[in-house]
Amino acid sequence: MTLVKIRSIRAREILDSRANFTLEVEVTTDSGRYSAGVPSGASRGRYEAVVLDADAAAANVNKRIASELKGKNPANQAEIDHLLIDLDGSRDKSNLGANAITGVSMAICRAGAASQKLPLYQYIEKFSRLPMSGKLPRPVFNMINGGVHATNVLDFQEFMVAPQANSVKKSLQIASDIYQKLRKKLGKNVGDEGGFAPPIHFPEEAIELILTAAKDLGLQKSIKIAVDAAASQFYREGKYKTGMGVFTREGLLNYYAELIKKYPIIFLEDPFHEEDWPGFTSITKQFGKKISIIGDDLLVTSPRRVKEAKEKDACNGLILKVNQIGTVSETVEAAGLAQSMGWKIIVSHRSGETNDDFIADLAVGLGADFLKAGAPARGERVAKYNRLLKIEEEFNY
Ligand code: PEP
Ligand code: MG
Repeated sequence: MTLVKIRSIRAREILDSRANFTLEVEVTTDSGRYSAGVPSGASRGRYEAVVLDADAAAANVNKRIASELKGKNPANQAEIDHLLIDLDGSRDKSNLGANAITGVSMAICRAGAASQKLPLYQYIEKFSRLPMSGKLPRPVFNMINGGVHATNVLDFQEFMVAPQANSVKKSLQIASDIYQKLRKKLGKNVGDEGGFAPPIHFPEEAIELILTAAKDLGLQKSIKIAVDAAASQFYREGKYKTGMGVFTREGLLNYYAELIKKYPIIFLEDPFHEEDWPGFTSITKQFGKKISIIGDDLLVTSPRRVKEAKEKDACNGLILKVNQIGTVSETVEAAGLAQSMGWKIIVSHRSGETNDDFIADLAVGLGADFLKAGAPARGERVAKYNRLLKIEEEFNY
């Protein structure tokens, strides 16, 4: 095999799904052009890598990163990611910008896969060498949006459907049937991730709406519910301030206990504030055997925070978002740690997205348990699910 080298790297600004500018990074090698779009979060964790203005980040790619990587072999993902980390030199990617580094790292990964003539998921599977890699993740679909992703008064951010089906095609069918049913009832007002944003106050109302739609379709036994409370967003001065009232840590735990008892919940994401370690530890102790307690803002895809969470028994599942940490290699490392501890792994989109479908391949390559990419509607969300569908087709051939 002839050695492929990077000829040039260029970042341009494109619009994301929230009408904000973000980066698209294009890597040109001897064999072709490979690009990646950078997503952006609205409910960002405090410890996420730092995002710069799109123009500043683009300038950093074009003026500082491109010349350093020219001539390198794109298949050396770990070496290139470490070079990016060193070039940035900060603890939080604030010099070059997490958006600049993420875009380059993802586009390099695509170029590396092409240089080895492998589909992206197989390439990721090969270099990540995780024991569980190569299985298809289950998609989970946002049906009702609240929190900072919607203009309604619902405090919890995401109410999702996790189809209990053994194929991606069947899962998409179940999700789209429920979505269409809800649309007839709730109209067309949606949040950032494409889930409906009705004027409801209580999480129970959101869950009942979904379960009723499923029941009307005879699908009640075919789904479970997943919830992202994104509790950092409604935490103020030691209390959880919601439209339902003000909760202490214990009060909120009791409230979750009721929800878990009453509904078929499969996972609960960010039930407490990102620094409320005791809150996470107590809910994991009480319910960790029954459902998965997932850290998103808590862990920010950071191997360091994953280790800390393990020491504190704070959760048993990890949300994985490349741009929270900045490089594909660090993302793979966080996934490896989580897998070695027997945690669930959910590869996730961001609320601000492009049409890039990288995360579908990432989820398959790492052997993630779930892929969370929003509603089964809107181009930037279905891009990921449709890619998963195509990978499933390749698996079946
Ligand atoms: C999330 O919190 O899981 C999420 C996808 O939101 P954001 O991208 O806004 O952080
Ligand atoms: Mg989250």
